Amino acid sequence: MLVNLIVNVVLNFLCCTIALVIVLVTSLSVFAETYEGSDETSLGEFYKKPTLVVMIAIDQLRRDRLNSSFKGGLGRLVKEGRVFSEAKLNHAISTTCPGHAVMLTGTNPGKAGIAGNSYIDRQNWQSRYCVDDADPSNQVFGRDINRSPRNLLVTTLGDWLKNNDHQSRVYAVGGKDRAAITLAGHSADGVYWFDATLGVFTTSHYYVDKLPDYIADFNGSDPLVDGFLSRLPASWTHRSGRNRVDDYQGEDEKLGNTSGHPLMAGNREEVASQVYQSPYVDSFTLELATSIVKREKLGQRGSTDLLAIALSATDTVGHLYGPFSAESEDTLRNVDEYLGKFLAFLDVTIGRASYVVVLSADHGVAELPEWAKENGRLSCPAESGREGVYGFMFRFYWYVYSRFTFPLDNPDNLVKLADSQITVNRLFAEELGLDTGEIITGLRAMLEAEDVIARTWTPEEIESDDGEIARLYRNSFVDGRSGDLFIQPQATCLVRDAGTSHGSPYSYDRNIPLVFFGNGITPGKTDVEAYSVDIATTLARLLGLVSPEHLDGRQLPLR
Ligand SMILES: [Zn+2]
Repeated sequence: MLVNLIVNVVLNFLCCTIALVIVLVTSLSVFAETYEGSDETSLGEFYKKPTLVVMIAIDQLRRDRLNSSFKGGLGRLVKEGRVFSEAKLNHAISTTCPGHAVMLTGTNPGKAGIAGNSYIDRQNWQSRYCVDDADPSNQVFGRDINRSPRNLLVTTLGDWLKNNDHQSRVYAVGGKDRAAITLAGHSADGVYWFDATLGVFTTSHYYVDKLPDYIADFNGSDPLVDGFLSRLPASWTHRSGRNRVDDYQGEDEKLGNTSGHPLMAGNREEVASQVYQSPYVDSFTLELATSIVKREKLGQRGSTDLLAIALSATDTVGHLYGPFSAESEDTLRNVDEYLGKFLAFLDVTIGRASYVVVLSADHGVAELPEWAKENGRLSCPAESGREGVYGFMFRFYWYVYSRFTFPLDNPDNLVKLADSQITVNRLFAEELGLDTGEIITGLRAMLEAEDVIARTWTPEEIESDDGEIARLYRNSFVDGRSGDLFIQPQATCLVRDAGTSHGSPYSYDRNIPLVFFGNGITPGKTDVEAYSVDIATTLARLLGLVSPEHLDGRQLPLR
């Protein structure tokens, strides 16, 4: 009896201990996967650190436009990648520069210093473009403008990579300078973008002293004669849309409303502008991305390299015709096709197991109000969903003039608007003997009386309010660069005469696709909370890189 009892006690003890150890180990590994990501060793013996990371940022791509029905690269990423089906922006000012800046910095626009596409420089009372630089040594090739990442106050994944391994190479190519520059960071080897005035791919002296020969050859001596533009058809023809008829009310008419939009009509500047607002700018961007991988031997030298690709046509076309237009459908189908070719090229050149792709967007967009109305989704108090730009701006500046700068002073010297923010010139207000607080109070009352405006926010209100909208504005707030008032529109309202736009804190502007694809990443769909600001932190972990402390992004589970 006694022996049996002792044996039972020992067995029970062992069982409990083993069970406890199993429970502990299991819960620790769950904890590790959920909160810490998986470390390199736990990814298994077949895991090989990627030699190339490709960040694909598709401008203005709403989350609901990406699905597995695509037959090319987009479809492949959705089917074979890890899809974060609830991904969002975690900031309120949903425009291009902030949206691109968060992806590879791992910080919200507020910390990154990117208040909007532009901000008001309080020192000289000028509107300042987010990637502008006063230093003429950072001049753009062939232009009388300067570009650099100097306004970006934080580092990027590319900077961390190069800091970790001096052999790592970092490149970016895109349709827009602000997209390519903010994705690339401060120490990139090459950053190229389409110049919609010159019709060439260009860069700034910040990065290189001379445009590489293969970029110059791509441009040609005259882009229309022997450069990439010479390969274009006379006009952009496309199929009719599956969502709605090709010509729909509310579409912008400046480049025509139906298939056959002009491409090669007019002088070089007009051609450049038309190409910029067509799918072809993305085709050329992806062709150039292929050349960069080949010529710079990205992913083929043992070190880990980064290539950021910013596809802009979804945005330029989307603004004109809306996200559900025949034109937008054709633009995304074109991305799908060219991305398919690009991924197939990477399979052969780098090897399927050696590269990782992340796909996301800088922001979404509102539907055309006319389309939203027809489908019962327009909630804007203004019946058409639109407020004309001219009328709105006239009322705004007439108010400032009649109330504060009458009779001899320019109202624009007292108050400026940039990216849904209003800045008051304190020095000028003082000169005029005006109280800044009184000006702000007056402007609020004037703006909040408009149908299309929900409310305005002061920085103090953003700081003290504990609601979600205030948190989003807080994440966009840059001390010294953001305005004195943030304008929150009514949902689904636009201050725009035709076409559509984005920039609000509402879900249609903030819901974005987010897909991770490649070795060490488990395919499938997950609805965990995910933001574009989590991309850099997640990639840093996957690559075993040390990222700076105090990032806003968290590590997303890739397995
Ligand atoms: Zn954008």
